[in-house]
Amino acid sequence: MHECTQLEFVVNAKDPSALLDWASVRQSASNEASTIDNRTQTLDCTVEIEDKKVPLRFHLAEARDFPYRLMETTGDATHQQIVEAMAKERGLHWTKGRLFDAMGQPVQCETEAQIYEVLGLPYFPPELREGQGLLIDPEELVDANDIRGDLHTHSSWSDGTLPIRTMALAAQARGYEYIAVTDHSQSLAIAGGLTAEDLLRQREEIERLNDELSGIKILHGIEVDILGDGTLDMPDEVLWELDLVIASVHSAMNQSPKRMTERILKAIEHPAVDIIGHLSGRLIGRREAYGLDFSAVLETAKQSRVCLELNANPNRLDIPDSWLRLAGEAGLLVPINTDAHSAQEYDNIRFGLRMAKRGWLHRQRVLNALPLNELTSLLHRKRKRQ
Ligand SMILES: [Zn+2]
Ligand SMILES: [Zn+2]
Repeated sequence: MHECTQLEFVVNAKDPSALLDWASVRQSASNEASTIDNRTQTLDCTVEIEDKKVPLRFHLAEARDFPYRLMETTGDATHQQIVEAMAKERGLHWTKGRLFDAMGQPVQCETEAQIYEVLGLPYFPPELREGQGLLIDPEELVDANDIRGDLHTHSSWSDGTLPIRTMALAAQARGYEYIAVTDHSQSLAIAGGLTAEDLLRQREEIERLNDELSGIKILHGIEVDILGDGTLDMPDEVLWELDLVIASVHSAMNQSPKRMTERILKAIEHPAVDIIGHLSGRLIGRREAYGLDFSAVLETAKQSRVCLELNANPNRLDIPDSWLRLAGEAGLLVPINTDAHSAQEYDNIRFGLRMAKRGWLHRQRVLNALPLNELTSLLHRKRKRQ
């Protein structure tokens, strides 16, 4: 897992003086004045955003070079080598951020898509421009049209802001077929966690709503706490009555990586668990991940047929891209969940989808891309086994 260390921009700057002026005003006081590196045509500076020093790099490009610079700066070395080799095969020559034909004339392309077309390749989004990404068919990656529901939502029964009915109608208005209401369990008192009796009453409400509403199905789930010792914060017989069980860590987060791994493996092996919520525990810019042994987690999740959530909350984006790639390769199903505490937070699905693309997630691997009947039969099969 790597942290972002720098924000990079490609700018169409025929006259970069305005950019230099901007950088000298915004430059944080401790740094020297910004200058343009003439060899690489880049400008580095550090600015302060919300009390954090953020290093920025601007790649300067004239309009005609812009798509080439964009492509060069968004792929890794392997991708660039492949692109240059493809150009050569076609009698073209890629040099210094430009493409030339056999006569030495520049090939004019206005977009990256046009460049790929000239090279005889389909358009590869930036997320695929590294490692083995060029072997992936971009058409197979999950996108917004594939998402049929949200499997991690909170209502005013716990720390959500809206009643279940409102959350369900808002999901329907987005074109979803289903949501799972997954409020917190009792030990998370700060978030109004539910007791077993609360869940019984919540079930009655959900049954009533499912009778009343058409075109949207509400699944009754829970986000049950994984307690410090790896046991779950709800009796088994209560969990078996639910349609869906997400198990998540919300406490004792400073355990050693080894202990945290054992704790989470124990939860994965609990037969009533369907999904592990925000597995790595990172809060971007605020809290490091737990340092789990991910290969052990992956292996156990595969054997136990447990899904690892991609939590789309922009503070989490958890699990991260490198783990998503491994989860996809291992054949795991990954739900892209917004963990919405309000109807607006359904919109966070867009961040989850961006992350899914970085994780090369095929639509067949996405749990909430399944139609309702397939989703429920998958969940029921697990429950019938008991
Ligand atoms: Zn949670
Ligand atoms: Zn949650």
